[in-house]
Amino acid sequence: MPARILNGNAIRDQIKEEVAADLRQLRDLGIRPGLAVILVGNNPASEIYTRNKVKSCESLGIHSERLILPETATTEDLLARVAELNAREEMDGILVQLPLPPPVDAKRVLLAVDPQKDVDGFHPVNLGNLVTQRPGLVPCTPAGILEILKRSAIPIEGQRAVVIGRSDIVGKPVALLLLHRNATVTICHSRTRDLPEIVRRAEIVVAALGKPRFVQGDWIREGAAVIDVGVNRVDGKIVGDVDFEQANGRAGVLTPVPGGVGLLTVAMLLRNTVQAFESQTAAAS
Ligand code: NAP
Repeated sequence: MPARILNGNAIRDQIKEEVAADLRQLRDLGIRPGLAVILVGNNPASEIYTRNKVKSCESLGIHSERLILPETATTEDLLARVAELNAREEMDGILVQLPLPPPVDAKRVLLAVDPQKDVDGFHPVNLGNLVTQRPGLVPCTPAGILEILKRSAIPIEGQRAVVIGRSDIVGKPVALLLLHRNATVTICHSRTRDLPEIVRRAEIVVAALGKPRFVQGDWIREGAAVIDVGVNRVDGKIVGDVDFEQANGRAGVLTPVPGGVGLLTVAMLLRNTVQAFESQTAAAS
């Protein structure tokens, strides 16, 4: 039986509407949260991502600025811009678009962002909050994956979940979010042995490894929920990390690429920006 295809558009629209309702209330009080997006160089994908982020913010009523620095920008240049933004009260969120050009020390730059304005949730303070289940800003893509599961009524508690990929921005945070919802989580990576066997045991599979159509249909347990995070360009087309056609015959539910997880990332950024505004306002009062 073909899988139920999870519609990222509908879930994204639902979340955006919730954020828009919060923003309308703030607007009635004369308040407009702000987000600054820093882009370094001219990576075409980053260029598109940042433009879309700014456009989405503006369409919902978040004031948004895109600061573009040349490819030659140094770590010190970036630290100076981040410090300026940290000090600007009307900027509630700061996002540094990754990847940064290699000579720049990305870890230092991310560490310089005020954790309360860290709408990407990459600062160690926010990652620490996530580990210890304290309130904080959660990375957008992992948060979006949880929204897809929750809003599609996919059971998580007690389920065996396999996350393929252990990056700080997707694999590890999504594994923690699943763990905190009482899934039994296995994290796999490039040195994992017998990956297909491990995936076959999972009721939830999150594929975030960045290899086109890597996860094969016969790795998927009948009826599993398969969340494909991958964004890979093959022959001018965007494809995921899961072989969609094969998985469609085995999975119970499946996210498409494009049209799945990717759509949620920007929606969660908007939500994080409002959350950043609210937590700074609460801290100031
Ligand atoms: P990343 O930093 O490159 O991490 C990839 C992870 O996959 C690493 O942990 C790596 O293991 C693991 N891996 C690589 N090859 C593997 C293999 N053959 N078997 C098992 N594990 C393997 O990537 P990322 O930033 O997490 O992104 C992952 C994918 O998600 C990419 O396609 C990216 O474009 C996409 N993405 C999508 C969104 C969205 O909004 N939709 C957002 C972010 C990322 P090691 O640690 O051992 O190297």
